[in-house]
Amino acid sequence: MFNKILIANRGEIACRVAATARRMGVKTVAVYSEADAHAKHVAVCDEAVLIGPAPAKESYLRADKIIEVALATGAQAIHPGYGFLSENSEFAHACAKAGIAFIGPPASAIEAMGSKSAAKSLMEKARVPLVPGYHGENQDADFLQNEADRIGYPVLLKASAGGGGKGMRVIEHSKDFKEALASCKREAINSFGDDKVLAEKYLQRPRHIEIQVFADTHGNCVYLFERDCSVQRRHQKVLEEAPAPGMTAERRAAMGEAAVAAAKAVGYVGAGTVEFIANQDGSFYFMEMNTRLQVEHPVTEMITGTDLVEWQLRVAAGEKLPLQQSELKIHGHAIEARVYAENPEKGFLPSIGTLRHNRTPAAVNFELGGGREPAAFRIDSGVREGDSISPFYDPMIAKMIVWGQDRKEALARMAQALTQYQIVGLSSNIGFLSRLILSRAFSTAELDTGLIERNQAELFPPAAAAGLHTLALAGVALLSSEQADGSDPWQSGQGWRMNSQMQRALQFAEEHQTHQLQVTYLADGWQIKAGGAQAHVRLAATTQHDLVLQIAGQTVSGTVVRDGEHFHVFSQGQHTDLHYNDALAHAGEAEAEGGRLTAPMPGKIVAVLVGKAQEVKKGDALLIMEAMKMEHTISAPHAGVIEEVLYAVGDQVTEGAQLLAFQQG
Ligand code: ADP
Repeated sequence: MFNKILIANRGEIACRVAATARRMGVKTVAVYSEADAHAKHVAVCDEAVLIGPAPAKESYLRADKIIEVALATGAQAIHPGYGFLSENSEFAHACAKAGIAFIGPPASAIEAMGSKSAAKSLMEKARVPLVPGYHGENQDADFLQNEADRIGYPVLLKASAGGGGKGMRVIEHSKDFKEALASCKREAINSFGDDKVLAEKYLQRPRHIEIQVFADTHGNCVYLFERDCSVQRRHQKVLEEAPAPGMTAERRAAMGEAAVAAAKAVGYVGAGTVEFIANQDGSFYFMEMNTRLQVEHPVTEMITGTDLVEWQLRVAAGEKLPLQQSELKIHGHAIEARVYAENPEKGFLPSIGTLRHNRTPAAVNFELGGGREPAAFRIDSGVREGDSISPFYDPMIAKMIVWGQDRKEALARMAQALTQYQIVGLSSNIGFLSRLILSRAFSTAELDTGLIERNQAELFPPAAAAGLHTLALAGVALLSSEQADGSDPWQSGQGWRMNSQMQRALQFAEEHQTHQLQVTYLADGWQIKAGGAQAHVRLAATTQHDLVLQIAGQTVSGTVVRDGEHFHVFSQGQHTDLHYNDALAHAGEAEAEGGRLTAPMPGKIVAVLVGKAQEVKKGDALLIMEAMKMEHTISAPHAGVIEEVLYAVGDQVTEGAQLLAFQQG
């Protein structure tokens, strides 16, 4: 076994690899960018070396620099994690040349599977079933359109070099083909440096089922069963589980064997995933092979009682696979939820910011391997409270993984864990994940890749207005903090009396509603009136952010985190963001937002679709920007006239920058 490895990655996966290395007594070297000087992965490794500025191109993708660091620190192997250099065959070659073991497959296997088009040709030869489509060399627009017409709509265009759900376009009609092709190629060249695309039949209500394979250098190759990753947004996984609901033993063996055949066809070594797209009747087709460890590998670890990073290290060190096919068994059910910094209500737009408050569910048990009962719950995260999610890297905050004897138990544990997860400082998808886990379609395992889109109404219910309990929690947090810091208007004399009792009005605003609270100070608490309701409220106990109230004799507990003027109330599994309108502080301030269209995040303008003085309808696309490797369309909020376009194609814009001046019609 190696004495020391370098981890050429960041975030949760770097921390994940470091945890196993530590358990195995292997020393670790972290590399980091200037943006990550205080990142968790730097803290959890034994050594850390700065490799460059924030943009990945100048740091985490600097193969030469990373190899130099490995040599200088005496690391015998490099674990690339996922993303960044993990599927870069030149990097694998360069490691070998420098005498460093690459903890991954041979460069030739990465090359063979690197292009979705070439991989499909190869799989065709290995008799692995393929989705009908065109994956050849000819990239002429008319030719491709003819092919799409031949395949029959809907057609899916994919960047051949693509990954992570990027560079894909679904086309419903031939007339939309050219525009979609141009946009797909633009995203492909920006994200992957290669604009080659392939076209295939877009399947209706398919499931994404993938097989974990593992091979060693002694000719052994096994499959560690399947993961169902059908629940996706923007073709990117949100929930993953193993085993796949409804999978029969025969189908599992057939898919497992097809995956092993695919791996063997390219001389595979190490951890790999063969992705299939499956029809509801169970028929399945090869999509692609990912030649690395997957984000969702923990669900496989939980049901098989293995540590796949340990397997990777052993295989890279020349050892045999720890288990043979006949020794691998499925035990229980595991589900993973990806916690993202994003705003599900706004089209899953990534969010950036600082984790001002980050409270993860209790009892994190990182126990892996060795045939023990799996820990029921695990969080893999690369961030801590106080850390930032920046626009430079992936917006994933953490992965939560739960295990249960069966799917029902795993689901219940996940639902509970999600209600205990509190984040303040940026938008997260935690509330959305809770609704998803509890939704009828997911809980009854009616799975397919359109689950989220088809269940919009259930997954995005109109926000319920905060009730008296929530408002009382926010109000009491405010009142008791004022008492504690001496700014209580009762004591400072700013309050006013009516019938010799002091009364005060507080105002809290939600996105679509403003709440007035009438507070009457009493000897042992307050009388709080909001909406039609009122109650006697007493503060029974408080520790830092946690409050226990007696509201009309009922015990109500919650956490209230104040972030500037925002009071974040967590209670009964709900997160409510209440904006405190301090009447004194805001007297005279005017509403200034009308007529401006601003950048939702830092990025680059890739297309300007309107000109000065142009009339537009509500919802018309005005401008496209690229941020976090994805395109975002800025559309007209109302009908109106464009007064001025303030940026041109290629311009970098900062978050909040005004992009267009717009006169509402
Ligand atoms: P990436 O490498 O970007 O993850 P994949 O080829 O793995 O791209 O596809 C990602 C997702 O896109 C799949 O999980 C599935 O939801 C959807 N998808 C891919 N191919 C098809 C298809 N032919 N029909 C329907 N959906 C598809």
